[in-house]
Amino acid sequence: MKYIDEFQDPELARRLLDDIRATVTRPWALMEVCGGQTHSIIRHGIDQLLPDEIELIHGPGCPVCVTPLEVIDKALEIASRPEVIFCSFGDMLRVPGTGRDLFQVRGEGGDVRVVYSPLDALRIAQRNPDREVVFFGIGFETTAPPNAMTVHQARKLGVKNFSMLVSHVRVPPAIEAIMSSPSCRVQGFLAAGHVCSVMGVGEYPELAERFRVPIVVTGFEPLDILEGVRRAVRQLERGEHTVDNAYARAVRPEGNPAARAMLEDVFEVTDRAWRGIGVIPDSGWRLSPKYRDHDAEHRFAVGGIRTVEPAECRSGEVLQGLLKPHECEAFGTLCTPRTPLGATMVSSEGACAAYYLYRRLDMPAAQAREASPVV
Ligand code: SF4
Repeated sequence: MKYIDEFQDPELARRLLDDIRATVTRPWALMEVCGGQTHSIIRHGIDQLLPDEIELIHGPGCPVCVTPLEVIDKALEIASRPEVIFCSFGDMLRVPGTGRDLFQVRGEGGDVRVVYSPLDALRIAQRNPDREVVFFGIGFETTAPPNAMTVHQARKLGVKNFSMLVSHVRVPPAIEAIMSSPSCRVQGFLAAGHVCSVMGVGEYPELAERFRVPIVVTGFEPLDILEGVRRAVRQLERGEHTVDNAYARAVRPEGNPAARAMLEDVFEVTDRAWRGIGVIPDSGWRLSPKYRDHDAEHRFAVGGIRTVEPAECRSGEVLQGLLKPHECEAFGTLCTPRTPLGATMVSSEGACAAYYLYRRLDMPAAQAREASPVV
């Protein structure tokens, strides 16, 4: 298959579902790691089409959702400074910090700009040599390479007024933390295909072996998800736990060597706090000492920030797969995409936003099947 719509083919989806039904004999809980996969699952009603034995648990793979409150507050403080042009992707602007968000900072006179690439921010810095330009660099192994490359470029071109507020996170330590939790129910993973397209699959065999969980590298279209589920369930039923690449059209075993080399040059691994979850050892990247001049935290000295999470928001439990979004009392009432209490309701990859946008929460399975755009 070559085209996206082929990966949404209803007939093929039916066949995959039949195969899954014929394979499964007992309950299994699978976690899809990536928020993009969560949106695809909820949007197409895949969770409701699967046999009752299979539960999909939504993982922490939303870059906006896991960016710690402390880093958001640092962004708000830096963006408030008159000498700063603060650049960010649009979905960070509505993420609530302690008491306000970047939109409010802009309303109060801060120069906060939405960009579509970190290179746009670098160009803004080149055109405004008398201002400090800061780019908000967040996300997983997918957004880290272009951000690393931009810092590399800034150094190469001698753009001294460009810096980055970095809060990058890595998937494998998060899988390790989830599996190490006493409350963990996850028995298999659908690993995020785009992350593996950068990093390859080399980090996963040790995890699969140590925790005895199948890890299936999975794409984002409905057939990708169903094929990932099919392969994971097949392994579980057979008592196997290997790494299986079901997204070979995008993922090579070694990933993208050029992107990995750029990451190694610009970043170093560090412990990182995940919003609502806490610190996970070795789960993040920060700029390496060679690039310290371009580190916004170093340049603006934004230490000593005290953060307060809203008491009602249970996004930490949502991100760990311990709670479904609609089980949060604030869901759809106090908390909506227009009035978000937590980042999981803001982000285009957030689980709470997916349930709000596509919710068919009380719909019986037969009706959901009818309503599904796929099957
Ligand atoms: S529905 Fe809102 S308040 Fe509840 S967990 Fe999600 S983001 Fe937080």
